[in-house]
Amino acid sequence: KNKLCWFRTDLRVHDNPALFEATESGLTIGLFIVSAAQWQIHNDSPVKVDLWLRALRELEQALARLNIPLKILTVPLWSDVPQALLAFAQAHDIDEVHCNREHGLNERRRDRTAYQLLSAHGINLLGHHGTTLLMPGSIKTGSDTYYKVFTPFARACRTQLRQAPLRLYPCPAKQQPKRLPASDPIVESIEGFAGVPTSIQQAWPVDDDAIEARIESFLTNRVSHYETARNYPALDGTAKISAYLAAGLISASQCFHAALSVNGGESETGDKGITTWVTELLWREFYQHLMFGFPELSMHRPMRPETAGVQWRNATADFQAWCEARTGIPIVDAAIRQLVTTGWMHNRLRMIVAMFLTKNLLIDWRWGEAFFMRHLIDGEFAANNGGWQWSASTGADSAPYFRVFNPVSQSEKFDPDGLFIRQWLPELAHLTSKEIHDPGQLARTSAGYPLAIVDLKSSRLRAIEAFSALKT
Ligand code: FAD
Repeated sequence: KNKLCWFRTDLRVHDNPALFEATESGLTIGLFIVSAAQWQIHNDSPVKVDLWLRALRELEQALARLNIPLKILTVPLWSDVPQALLAFAQAHDIDEVHCNREHGLNERRRDRTAYQLLSAHGINLLGHHGTTLLMPGSIKTGSDTYYKVFTPFARACRTQLRQAPLRLYPCPAKQQPKRLPASDPIVESIEGFAGVPTSIQQAWPVDDDAIEARIESFLTNRVSHYETARNYPALDGTAKISAYLAAGLISASQCFHAALSVNGGESETGDKGITTWVTELLWREFYQHLMFGFPELSMHRPMRPETAGVQWRNATADFQAWCEARTGIPIVDAAIRQLVTTGWMHNRLRMIVAMFLTKNLLIDWRWGEAFFMRHLIDGEFAANNGGWQWSASTGADSAPYFRVFNPVSQSEKFDPDGLFIRQWLPELAHLTSKEIHDPGQLARTSAGYPLAIVDLKSSRLRAIEAFSALKT
């Protein structure tokens, strides 16, 4: 009997537990399921889907070197997946399907239904742990509940990682070239997700060598400045690997190991840049564990139930201005242009634009969350939902509602010379470093750039009132 490795967001041959275990138990076929209608429902962006298709072509070649064919199935929705998997397994004499567990609610429902259908026909679906550092559900408080606060969660993760060091799975051995079907061709693009500029494809190459070089260059040249540089959007201060982690072109464990290897095997002491970077990997982990532990997060509900009562403004024109970089707040507009043009936005800016939308404009965080997903190359439900709920003060360990970022002060602090603003808003490039941040100044000096759509002071108070009203 043959084995199947069902690839999802784990498009790699190294440190892939499902692939490794499948090949250990028999002759293996790889499979990827294209489900464009489902991707549309999830707001998956064209840039992300394009990255998946490019990554699949790389994967097909890497698998071919191991004599593993990669087959492609196409179904509209995940509800069609179990039946399609069963038919495929029966047609190819498969008795075991291996996959790495995905922790989103819809993903788990899909897998549970597939498991039930396959097992009713004598086929085993085996889920492996390969998406996070630690299995969601394995890190709990003393009273067996999920952590809702990051710092103790991260401490518990670190203890666990120290006590039971992570194991990386090697690339599987080459299998015997035998009677397996040929690989399927991988389409260049899919309707609804086409037209991705080559500049984005070049910015996010998908071959192993380029990805490895990116991590190595960050960990050898830039990580020691990470603690401060990571806050400045004009600097190349972060690793820029989020799209790879989201698509599973690399695993979190590989990143963790790479960090330790340049820090004498330590993740808690030594280079401050490394320990801070590991903390960021643990933020990713935190949001994945929350998504697993609190299914309501996947049902458009806030983590803090009382915040469901916030009276968000149904301000479509303001939202449109935010989406189109016309708010008149330079750092916000520059950040949105970065996102829409490149598919990526710097973390500091994600916080600034999210806080501006949810506080100054008092617009529902779910609108911003969906907009981000439709544009991000690294769009990942858990991190995106977590980031939005953090900024909106509706989340687990979120910014307190009364601590509203002032986007102009943030801009002055983290883009002091306006380098980032100048790059994305060339119409303001002639302004001095002092003038460039301030919408009031701009209104006087720069014709053509919109006036601020909201007064920062009074809108801040309006947001605080909207939240404080919930307590009474
Ligand atoms: P680095 O600073 O080099 O960090 C390394 C890795 O750690 C990242 O690639 C990422 O996987 C993880 N990480 C870093 N910061 C965070 C964080 N705050 N939360 C969770 N994981 C983190 N990240 C996504 O991967 N996908 C998203 O859809 C996403 N949406 C976000 C939405 C909002 C409103 C906010 C505030 C943050 C969001 N983030 C998201 C987190 C963060 O902005 C990106 O992970 C980061 O900018 C990626 O850049 P990098 O790879 O250079 O990160």
